[in-house]
Amino acid sequence: MLSKEYFERCLKVTPGGVHSPVRAFNSVGGTPVFFKEAKGAYLTSVENEKYLDFCQSFGPLILGHRDEEVQAEVMRMIDTIWTSGTCEAYSLELAEWITEHVFFVEKLRFVSSGTEAVMSALRVARAATGRDKIVKFEGCYHGHVDSLLVKSGSGLAGTSAASSAGVAKSTAEQTLVTPLGDLEAYIKVLDEQKEEIAAVILEPLPANFGLLEQDEDFLKSVVEEARKRDILIIFDEVISGFRSALGGMALKLGLTPDLVTYGKVIGGGFPVGCYGGKKEFMDLVAPKGPVYQAGTLSANPVGMVAGLTTLKKAKRENIWDKFQSMTDGFKADFNTWSVDQGYDMRLKTYGSLFWFVEHEGPIRSVDQISAKHGERFKHFFKSLLDQKLYLAPNGFEVGFLGNAHTPEIMQEALEKFKNATVAVNQSKS
Ligand code: PMP
Repeated sequence: MLSKEYFERCLKVTPGGVHSPVRAFNSVGGTPVFFKEAKGAYLTSVENEKYLDFCQSFGPLILGHRDEEVQAEVMRMIDTIWTSGTCEAYSLELAEWITEHVFFVEKLRFVSSGTEAVMSALRVARAATGRDKIVKFEGCYHGHVDSLLVKSGSGLAGTSAASSAGVAKSTAEQTLVTPLGDLEAYIKVLDEQKEEIAAVILEPLPANFGLLEQDEDFLKSVVEEARKRDILIIFDEVISGFRSALGGMALKLGLTPDLVTYGKVIGGGFPVGCYGGKKEFMDLVAPKGPVYQAGTLSANPVGMVAGLTTLKKAKRENIWDKFQSMTDGFKADFNTWSVDQGYDMRLKTYGSLFWFVEHEGPIRSVDQISAKHGERFKHFFKSLLDQKLYLAPNGFEVGFLGNAHTPEIMQEALEKFKNATVAVNQSKS
């Protein structure tokens, strides 16, 4: 059966034919490719075609698909215990590894997704402060938590409107949205409502509206200004934790949040998230404290060993330094070529994260993204798909590299990205 035929069947039984909207091809056109197998840097479609994969399941697969060490541990657990709903020691090992490597995570709790981690961290922050409101930045995504499916109305800082149907108005009103990179607007929001704000949540490396690397001084001020007002800081490191660096952006930048959320990499490709932070806050969580949070499959042993094996191997091979030098070279090669050709496409990278966008220089906020980006990405994506290179099917998603992307593979990819850039420029959109 072909991808198209599978998709027709999927459309009948699931909304839009997909189990997460980011998998749909709505913004690029065409029907999604169905994949049946994955190994290393490659996906194999149901048509038996091999695609070079730079989506990598949206981030968890820092070692590539089915890394052998991870697979061996997963298979061992499949033969040992799947889930028990009891105490076990597999999650203890991962919890100890994380708390040993990230000094400010004194205690943590495992959950089954990034969304759950964020939702729970917000609940703790509200309980700790006795306040209800949360400040978030426009362009940062924190999962499909009701209160965070909110963006600023008409670009006005401090106002709120839900960006999804089905979110109660009263819930949306608890969230205050302010632009990235604008310290003045941020301070104004804090000052106007400081008695009501429990926490400020941010991706310290925003990677859900393209890659909007922030100025370090801005991030430092965001933390300091909240602290001055006794407002908690939550770093959402679901993407950046253990992908940008060992210990994520917090350790890399020397900034200490009160609470942090992780996901993706810490589960090595299985459904694992966690939230953690200072003991005084985490001890508010049940059964020690009054904040209720639970999960039938939380700390699932298979996910626990997959995550621990992934993290240990990443550390042993110091893959973060490897990624940095690999993408530095890749970026220089692509951007030099693009400038020479007179094209405006530029490659932005941060370690193993990358994004192609029409913009010279640093790009820090949503309003700096060219209005033509989405339309041009359609041509970029289509050319890459024709060349059997798979990116997430949306121009505002970042690309992910893994350990399986060898220098030879990157060289091959470079040529494909150049061809796609030529295709975009020939399209005249
Ligand atoms: N926070 C961030 C920063 C994310 O990137 C994501 C997912 N892309 C989430 C939270 C939600 O994670 P999940 O999809 O596992 O619920």
